[in-house]
Amino acid sequence: MSKLEIKALGAAGEVGRAAILVRSRETGSAVLLDYGVNFDANDRPVLPLHVRPRDVTCAVLSHAHLDHCGAFPSLYVSYEVPLYATPLTIELGDLLIKDLLKLSGYYLPYEHREVCKMLECTVPVTYGEIVEVSKDLTLTFLNAGHVPGSSMVVIDIDGWRVLYTGDFNPNPSALLNGADLLNIPQDVDVVIMEGTYTSGVHPPREQLEKQLIEIVLSVLEEGGCVLIPSFTVGRAQEVLTILVKYGIDYPIIVDGLARVANEIIARYPHYLRDYRLYRKAVETAIEVPSEYFRRNVGREPCIVISPAGMLKGGAVIQYFKKLSRNRRNAIILPSFQAPGTPGFQVLTRGRAVIENQEIKVEAKIFWLDLSAHAGKRELEQFILRFADRETTIVMVHTNLISALKFVSNLYTRHGVDNVVVPHTAGETLILDK
Ligand SMILES: [Zn+2]
Ligand SMILES: [Zn+2]
Repeated sequence: MSKLEIKALGAAGEVGRAAILVRSRETGSAVLLDYGVNFDANDRPVLPLHVRPRDVTCAVLSHAHLDHCGAFPSLYVSYEVPLYATPLTIELGDLLIKDLLKLSGYYLPYEHREVCKMLECTVPVTYGEIVEVSKDLTLTFLNAGHVPGSSMVVIDIDGWRVLYTGDFNPNPSALLNGADLLNIPQDVDVVIMEGTYTSGVHPPREQLEKQLIEIVLSVLEEGGCVLIPSFTVGRAQEVLTILVKYGIDYPIIVDGLARVANEIIARYPHYLRDYRLYRKAVETAIEVPSEYFRRNVGREPCIVISPAGMLKGGAVIQYFKKLSRNRRNAIILPSFQAPGTPGFQVLTRGRAVIENQEIKVEAKIFWLDLSAHAGKRELEQFILRFADRETTIVMVHTNLISALKFVSNLYTRHGVDNVVVPHTAGETLILDK
């Protein structure tokens, strides 16, 4: 008889703050899957529940987004936990964590020193490699298709086989191949999966790409500029790649941390769907050479791609203040906008409070669902893969109400009754075998 514990330290009925501890009661081996942050209404980082680093055999980072990695350095104050991730995830995570430290360092329980210590403890892995951590613990990483370098991970622990999806996207995008579902083993005991879009069906990708191009061209041809606020890692590169794929022949400016991310990703060709296209995209993009140049953007038709994706600061603010005033221009929001963020205000009210100043948007406003997550249909299909087996499915990184509705629908329509949704951080599931 062997018992496995799955404890949601975060991401329980909550999108973000991913942190799950998987532990064998018999051997004491324990894997920490992600350790990310969320942000409260005042934009302060909220950490997952505490875990004693000495109780963790190893940690896994699925991808570089802060809601998966932002709290990791707090484990390195007085102890050294090996942290497994792809080399690209390690580099991008380092970039985003240091930026978080710069913006919110006052509220974080770690400093630069801990980030350096964390980096010293990272162990780079490749997709498909079987990593032996200890006698009863191995890890196998698979492409998750979410952002460059992102992974799903199969954990073999004391006779149990657990799959953690992290954030995943089964569909290919302009930038990435879809998640490597083919190589997921058949005999999984537990699946810990994200459920970001339990209520949202994504339109077909090609349709969205064409829509983006149509909007961009109509604005540029009328002499306007297009501002596309985008996340540093993933969305900025995806939007840039689509624009270049369709041969947009206007200046494309990439600013802020996205420029740095572009260069880092360019050094890892094998993570990309079409490296030549990506290389061309990065070479086409204009880097901002000076503040003078930045101030003069908007005089001629151009496209600006810059973080932050929800207009919560970053280089995009300067462009937003300027370009939003002119009705010839357009603001395209290519990702989910969390309630309370300036991006959400722009979408719902056509105005936003930025740096204590209310700005009315005269420019045209668009929202495009260029998501990097599995949509409702993909989540359903994914779960049905495990429906005939004795697999327990744990859904995290999800909105509680829509997840419960999704799960009850699965039961009514397909008789699926093996999905568990932890409600609050700290909930522990104990499985017997
Ligand atoms: Zn996430
Ligand atoms: Zn993510």
